[in-house]
Amino acid sequence: MRRIWIIVAALAIGAGLMGAPGLLDSPAAAGQPPVTLPAIPTGLTSPVTPPAGLDPVSPYLPQVSCSPVDMPGPMMLRDLVIATYGVGGRGNISRGCTEGVSEHSEGRAWDWIVNVKDPVEKAAAADFIAWVTQDAGRNARRLGIMYVIYNEKIWSVYNIPAGWRASSGHTDHVHVSFAWNGARGNTSFWTGRVGTIDYGSCARFAGSYAERTDTPRAKPCGRPTSALVKTSRGDRQYGRTGGTVTRAQSLLGVARTGRFDAATWSAVRTYQRAHDLPGTGVLDQPTWASLDRASITRRVVIGYTPARAAKQGLASYARSTLAKGRAAKAVVLLQTALRLPLADRNGYLGSVTVAAVQRLQSASGLEPDGVVRAEEWQALRAATR
Ligand SMILES: [Zn+2]
Repeated sequence: MRRIWIIVAALAIGAGLMGAPGLLDSPAAAGQPPVTLPAIPTGLTSPVTPPAGLDPVSPYLPQVSCSPVDMPGPMMLRDLVIATYGVGGRGNISRGCTEGVSEHSEGRAWDWIVNVKDPVEKAAAADFIAWVTQDAGRNARRLGIMYVIYNEKIWSVYNIPAGWRASSGHTDHVHVSFAWNGARGNTSFWTGRVGTIDYGSCARFAGSYAERTDTPRAKPCGRPTSALVKTSRGDRQYGRTGGTVTRAQSLLGVARTGRFDAATWSAVRTYQRAHDLPGTGVLDQPTWASLDRASITRRVVIGYTPARAAKQGLASYARSTLAKGRAAKAVVLLQTALRLPLADRNGYLGSVTVAAVQRLQSASGLEPDGVVRAEEWQALRAATR
């Protein structure tokens, strides 16, 4: 295998010397690959018989959650690429959430450490890239790959006509980002069945991270609720350090290391589950507002007594249905009318609020299904009058 690569590398170097590698800022360079690609790449072998049909093209699905856990699709591709080519470093998949928008923060990107300055590594990268991108991204679709970056160029399956476009860096590794179907390994290269588009997680509150779910989502996300609460504390994610992290660790009762580590991530998620907060694993505005009431600088519902909240709910929301998973101002009114502890009045209808609704329903002779309609508002009004 190694010998084959030395031959391919020699060919690649020869071609590179003859062809003019256009400048990045030149329009003529648009569409040109980052390295000289072999016309007939060896490529990777699927462990199953691929179906005749092709997996659908996902739109660009940027990072929306902070979830530093390696996903199966990138892990399987990494192992297969390393086994096939036998060169380069394994790189990493998931990382902290501090580097801006990156699918690495959701464990659905992989960096294969292959340097353009190393002819053997560069040739292996060229073969892989040629195989992924050939025939309008046929294999990218089979793997659920969203885009590839190498040697200052990006190629994306959701914009095939544009070809290779200018990007930056990535001269020492190939970056591969996956759509959610590819990240979960739910595509034909691995399963033998044509997959579906998986839109992944959705944020509940505008400006906040999404809660990571393990369930594929067939529909795009709805509009997130405009943030119901703001605090004087900044958002903090996995990988961050400093005094604000230490403050949260005190409130959460975990070791005060000042480092947002795995133990802190786990404690944040546990706290969020206990308080009807979206399980983002991030110290976001709804979580700070719950952890530290004194930090609240803006809230949508202020100065409402339980009686006034019940009256307002009956007047404004009697014709709408509030079910589990809903995030809205109406839910804050509901939580106030239900006399939930202040830490649980966060606008999100999770299991704590559902349980309180069910208690109200049982006490009022209503079916305890946890769903709020006109009868529940009426019952709350009667209970708080
Ligand atoms: Zn990367």
